[in-house]
Amino acid sequence: MSTANCLPQLVIGSLGGTVCMQVESAGEGVTPSLSGEALLASLPQLQGLARISAETLQLLPSASLTFIQLLEVLQWADTQVTQGAHGVVLTQGTDTLEEVAYFLDLLWPHDVPLVLTGAMRSADQAGADGPANLLAAVQVALAAESHGRGALVVINDQVHAALNVRKADSLALEAFTSSHLGPEGLLIEGRVCYLKAPRLRCTLPVPQRLDHRVALLEASLSADTVLLEEVAGLGYEGLVIAGFGAGHVSRDWARCLGQISLRLPVVIATRAGAGTTASRTYGFKGGEVDLQRRGARMAGFLCPRKCRVLLWVLIGCGMEGELERQLQVQGLAHSLNS
Ligand code: ASP
Repeated sequence: MSTANCLPQLVIGSLGGTVCMQVESAGEGVTPSLSGEALLASLPQLQGLARISAETLQLLPSASLTFIQLLEVLQWADTQVTQGAHGVVLTQGTDTLEEVAYFLDLLWPHDVPLVLTGAMRSADQAGADGPANLLAAVQVALAAESHGRGALVVINDQVHAALNVRKADSLALEAFTSSHLGPEGLLIEGRVCYLKAPRLRCTLPVPQRLDHRVALLEASLSADTVLLEEVAGLGYEGLVIAGFGAGHVSRDWARCLGQISLRLPVVIATRAGAGTTASRTYGFKGGEVDLQRRGARMAGFLCPRKCRVLLWVLIGCGMEGELERQLQVQGLAHSLNS
């Protein structure tokens, strides 16, 4: 048997993003153009590590990815594992990396690592970080210690859990953080060094319904209730609010949310960017105690965007009744009565 046949098998699926962007016509800005195969070819260092193949699944800026496309990606990744892959790497844009990673993490049933990466600098920019991130992602995906950790985001020599990671800077190279908990691990001299034991994972079934919609609205100073009042009538089946501070809204919004939560699940997260919602601290109208009494659920540490992903998946598999428990597990959320 040749040495190459003894190497583990790894697949790279590319979805687009800055990591594969370059200038196609002068003065027009960068656009996704490099295929997965071209990304792989640009990194000869990868060849000795595994039998690697690459496929271009999409060539999109990550803002245009959809849940339905992600379910196709999930199925593709699942097939790769069934066919013997020891690790799966996805490259994509960083703008929605945290949401995509969390979506896939909720549904990834395997111990085999699913590693997502991207880049802050485009492929033709000086100091492009894409190749280094891709190499690190492959190293993480091939490490035995990465098994059983679900979907991981590898970027800037850090490994983040899908549940905690957040893009916290629009353009900086060190754009990703896992606030409070910190990264799961670090890349040191080409090896992953985990700082934490794997979290106990509990995945959800793949959604069967795909036509439902979940709205996400952010509370803001002196906002009217016109849009809010329309949400249920427009056919949305769930609503997430990015609330002020520890999960608060104005008294007008609170009144509206009370009406809405008679018809669909309402989750209140914090728009603060870090930290948790409260459960029993504030007693004013629009505070978390009032909102829970009106039927809303508090998100805990789960950010508004990930709450929307969770609610969409739960509704899609007919498990809305699980919402409160999932928020407790995923967001470490407390409720008034817990
Ligand atoms: N700026 C983005 C990126 O980092 C664009 C995108 O998300 O596709 O890739």
